[in-house]
Amino acid sequence: MDKAHCHWCKLPSSQWQTYGHAPGPKWTLEELKRVAGSLNATKRTENGVKGYPQLDCVELERYIFPVLHVTLGLANRLLKDTVDYADLVVERTPIVLKTARLKQIEASHKHDTIKQEIVDWGVQNGPTLANMHLAQSHLDEQIQVEGELSDKERERRFLLP
Ligand SMILES: [Zn+2]
Repeated sequence: MDKAHCHWCKLPSSQWQTYGHAPGPKWTLEELKRVAGSLNATKRTENGVKGYPQLDCVELERYIFPVLHVTLGLANRLLKDTVDYADLVVERTPIVLKTARLKQIEASHKHDTIKQEIVDWGVQNGPTLANMHLAQSHLDEQIQVEGELSDKERERRFLLP
């Protein structure tokens, strides 16, 4: 069976997917076998039947309900309805809010770009920055050990060769 056909009956999807439809004629094991026997290289499927039933000794009242497929179908329908509703809400949104939202998106994009530039700068200049921090910590240590230096003395000790 495939998703375009009901797993209960022989109705096509155009009929069984409408809400409140009348139940169609149910499949029987014999009918499944008959349709499977009519398949060939040019007609590979008919009404969702693609081959012989794997269990041909269990009548069709005894089968496993496809929970995953049904749940996915419900979730897909819910998602589609939510997106449709969101589109409607967006259409009714005042122009002031639409403009504010666009500006927010632009600002967020600019923020992300700047954050990436900072990361890139760090990657390119990391060793230099580490050396500067190391030199700064050496200077801080010397200041703590020797006390506060005058500008003239600091210039003499650290900047002149
Ligand atoms: Zn059905």
